[in-house]
Amino acid sequence: MGQLNSDLHCHSTESDGTLSPAEVARRAASNGVSLWTLTDHDTLKGLPEAREAAAASGLRFVHGVEISVTWNFQTLHIVGLNIDPANLVLLAGLAKIRASRQERAQKIADQLTEAGISGSLDGAYAFAQNADLIGRTHFARFLVARGFARNESDVFRRYLSPGRTGDVPHQWAQLAEAVAWIRASGGVAVLAHPGRLKLARAQLVRLIGDFKACGGAAIEVVTASHSQDQAADFALLCCSHGLLASRGSDFHNPDDARYDLGKLPQLPSSVTPVWSLFA
Ligand code: AMP
Ligand code: MN
Ligand code: MN
Ligand code: MN
Repeated sequence: MGQLNSDLHCHSTESDGTLSPAEVARRAASNGVSLWTLTDHDTLKGLPEAREAAAASGLRFVHGVEISVTWNFQTLHIVGLNIDPANLVLLAGLAKIRASRQERAQKIADQLTEAGISGSLDGAYAFAQNADLIGRTHFARFLVARGFARNESDVFRRYLSPGRTGDVPHQWAQLAEAVAWIRASGGVAVLAHPGRLKLARAQLVRLIGDFKACGGAAIEVVTASHSQDQAADFALLCCSHGLLASRGSDFHNPDDARYDLGKLPQLPSSVTPVWSLFA
């Protein structure tokens, strides 16, 4: 079962990806994925189109989402898998986060204006196909288009990372809240790409403990932002904490993807895959 080609983390134009949900589904299918989820940031809007396209391509599909969280003054991401997209608790929680994204976007634009970069609010929205879900990636695309940076990661480094001009402190959902919304909708909560957090070991262990205590069930072990060594380390942490393991490319964009959909290493055989929970 661990050898199933699952890809349980990726994005569409409904958040900060560049392909539509149906295009992502077709790319997953042609890359050999057999179990697929769309996990846009803080929105479920792409799921009906994703589900339909998955069915048309013969892909097994579960509904997903990636929720923005603040834990201990740090931003982290919790993926919800096998959620019910009609659940009102989950929908209300996500709507609140999206509203706060609009306010944050205004603040980012104000700070960029002060630094002499005008028009970034309209500019970022022009790159957001879903105006309800504005994020830093849309600012990044605007800044690249205007020649302020070579590519998106260059923008993040120069303008959007902590301490830079466009950095705005932001309060996302609480960890326990996000996990509770996912569970209320019948889903499974997964700690996304923990290797991206620059946490000291003791902090990481504390995060995993907090996550499990509030009902979290799995850790993303294989993902674009983890090295082979990190995957092995998170597999060990899954085993020692009694957590399941997930696998997802975090695909956003065909021109800029470390792992394409379905083209990522298998989970280590020591872990129990999170999809063992799906009927
Ligand atoms: P937001 O949720 O609006 O703060 O945006 C976070 C998103 O920005 C992530 O999901 C990534 O898609 C993207 N991102 C974050 N850091 C970087 C980076 N260093 N280079 C490129 N994209 C990044
Ligand atoms: Mn993203
Ligand atoms: Mn993420
Ligand atoms: Mn993601």
